[in-house]
Amino acid sequence: MIEELSDSFDRIHLWHPYTSAIDPLPTYKVTSAEGAEIVLEDGTRLIDGMSSWWCVIHGYNHPAINAAAKAQIDRMSHVMFGGLTHEPAIELGKMLLEVAPPSMHNIFYADSGSVAVEVAMKMAIQAAVSRHGTHRRTNFVTIRSGYHGDTWNAMSVCDPVTGMHGAFGSALPIRFFLPSPKAGYYDEWDPAAIEPLKECLERHADELAALILEPVVQGAGGMRFYHPQYLVEARKLCDQYGIYLIFDEIATGFWRTGKMFAWEHAGVEPDIMCIGKGLTAGYLTMSAVLTTKEVAETISRGEAGVLMHGPTFMGNPLACAIAIASLKLLQSQDMAARLNHLHEVIAEELEPAKALPGVKEVRSLGSIGVIEMKEPVDVGEFQKRCVKEGVWIRPFGRLVYVMPPYVISDEQLSTLIRKMIKIIAQ
Ligand code: PMP
Repeated sequence: MIEELSDSFDRIHLWHPYTSAIDPLPTYKVTSAEGAEIVLEDGTRLIDGMSSWWCVIHGYNHPAINAAAKAQIDRMSHVMFGGLTHEPAIELGKMLLEVAPPSMHNIFYADSGSVAVEVAMKMAIQAAVSRHGTHRRTNFVTIRSGYHGDTWNAMSVCDPVTGMHGAFGSALPIRFFLPSPKAGYYDEWDPAAIEPLKECLERHADELAALILEPVVQGAGGMRFYHPQYLVEARKLCDQYGIYLIFDEIATGFWRTGKMFAWEHAGVEPDIMCIGKGLTAGYLTMSAVLTTKEVAETISRGEAGVLMHGPTFMGNPLACAIAIASLKLLQSQDMAARLNHLHEVIAEELEPAKALPGVKEVRSLGSIGVIEMKEPVDVGEFQKRCVKEGVWIRPFGRLVYVMPPYVISDEQLSTLIRKMIKIIAQ
């Protein structure tokens, strides 16, 4: 039955992410999706554990977001942002500044998470060169197990081993990589964890524009939750050495970790912050880079006088209208309580996985539940079983995890995790 669901044109001609063109992993044809469920061509309904790579925060086919999108299409889908502006971009900007770290002041709308990271890195370089009056300060430091996207500079700050871009090796700019802090989110803080950053900055600060981090949760580079104190210490060192601090909140933003943004776990503000994914609730691709007045003005006083970036689809009105509708939905609910509840269910349902022989570690934070296996998982085989069981989970490496849409019911969530554990146990 499952084989029949794959399409031969798709198999032969369409490139899917991270799979071979000769022997691709199976794909399943989706005809619709609603709430926390994805519906396949043969009518099979799958409970979604992935939020379509973490972006569909309100579930699929949400009436309020659909209405906002339709209303905006009837006005205008797009207009260039060079020399023109529009109400959706302005309203979204106001709403973002209300929820962003208080020091954020300027907003750059970009196309995708990866492009937001590119823009953030360009901002940091332009600001660092202008601030220090030297072209030497153009490199970056980061920690292992990170993931920041698929474009060139974003790849260069991904973990060289787990960050999925090892194939590009020496073609990528060489960055400074430090150990990922060992202390987990719930562990006791170990002050030794910050020593490598201290040593790196002591020696190389004059080559560095910024430190880039995914705050607290490292996503696609390892699904790790590290201690928030790392951010507190990193902030102090960045200030001491005149290095900018970039937070990539593309995966962590919009309540995924139990807070609106993950910086709140540490109370530490970045100089530059990237958001994406949940920003448009999975409807359209859009991201944003937020920064301080200081960074924006320093760039503007620099040689170029402007930030050197300006994509065609910048500030796309349709995407902005969708993002506004999504933010309104978040504002209309007690999201802290909702996320607390989701976390309770996830943590409780994951408990039995701890006893399974192939399992190395089980962890959860916010609406993220992770089972780390001792050995890599066969993704194709795992997903076949998922579809048979009526759930949608896509593991990578040794990691099997769920990040469901926040609208998932308790019953759906329990079923999702029980099936995940059942498949692992098999
Ligand atoms: N940064 C982080 C932390 C991410 O998790 C991702 C996507 N997984 C990206 C950047 C890249 O985003 P996009 O896929 O939208 O380019």
